[in-house]
Amino acid sequence: MKNTKEPKNAPFEIDGITVQPGTRAKVELPLAQLYTQTPLNVPIHVIHGRKPGPVLMVSAAIHGDELNGVEIIRRLLRHSALKSINGTLLAVPVVNVFGFIHKTRYLPDRRDLNRCFPGSETGSLGARMAWQFKTQVLDRATHAVDLHTGAIHRANLPQIRADLSNEDTGAMANAFGVPVVINSVLGEGTLREVAEAQGIPVITYEAGEALRFEESCIRAGVKGVLNVMQHLGMTGARRSRVPAEPYIARSSSWVRAERDGVFLSLVALGAWIKKGDLIGRISSPFGGEDVNIYAPAAGILVGRNNLPLVNEGEALYHIARFEEVSEVAQSLEVFTSDIEKGPTLAGEPPIV
Ligand SMILES: [Zn+2]
Repeated sequence: MKNTKEPKNAPFEIDGITVQPGTRAKVELPLAQLYTQTPLNVPIHVIHGRKPGPVLMVSAAIHGDELNGVEIIRRLLRHSALKSINGTLLAVPVVNVFGFIHKTRYLPDRRDLNRCFPGSETGSLGARMAWQFKTQVLDRATHAVDLHTGAIHRANLPQIRADLSNEDTGAMANAFGVPVVINSVLGEGTLREVAEAQGIPVITYEAGEALRFEESCIRAGVKGVLNVMQHLGMTGARRSRVPAEPYIARSSSWVRAERDGVFLSLVALGAWIKKGDLIGRISSPFGGEDVNIYAPAAGILVGRNNLPLVNEGEALYHIARFEEVSEVAQSLEVFTSDIEKGPTLAGEPPIV
């Protein structure tokens, strides 16, 4: 017999559209327009559960050229775990539609949308878009996951960045299930800063490089969002293994080019680096001495420049320091092989 005492979810209203409990809808938010009078909508997928629960916003491509998150959301939306959820999932595959169209991080006015929050109704294009997005989508959420990659020509090891001084945020960072967590308090008008300031726990998933798809980063991302949903009680327990506790970096820093030239890297992302290791060289095809690059500190390589042409001062390696660096290296090995052997989570062949 059906338990009639079970609480029922109320309809979810967004942009004048009513989504009934137990249904899904795609809402086209009119956030911008091209000067050809073509509307530039931001599609929001609303998966509204039968039972009440958290409202999780998952967003991607707030930097228009960061594509792994777009594919993470596409796969997430096809996942069977979403057939019956508690609460509501607001999935936004592309926040910066302008940048996405032009294959760039930025807006047409060269601003970074992720520096324009909270924005305002009367400010710059970026401020207006940020304001619309904040008031219509972000403010509706109780929790958020923002999906990013490294910048152009720069790859990140899958990692979570979060303000761990908030306990709920820390719990989400742990639940996501990637081995490396970087504690960072972001300012400068980011979505993350604004969400945290108004009590919405938010984590950023960073993985891969702009303008590229990377299967392992995508898989880890889909899995991570599903892990967070389970942690928040939005889905039932899945059969997959409970992820190991992540390691929180003590600090992190960039190694920069000491000279202009051609950059040759000798270490891959995820490498365990010891202080003084030879990690790269800067050479010149036009003669002259090579410059060796030695690791200034021990740690794990969590970010790397992939473009061989570098100028003095350019960031080459991002090294995160840990108390228990050998354990992190081990945990990364297990994690990487699990991800590679695991399913694509979309029932499709993997991207290779
Ligand atoms: Zn980004």
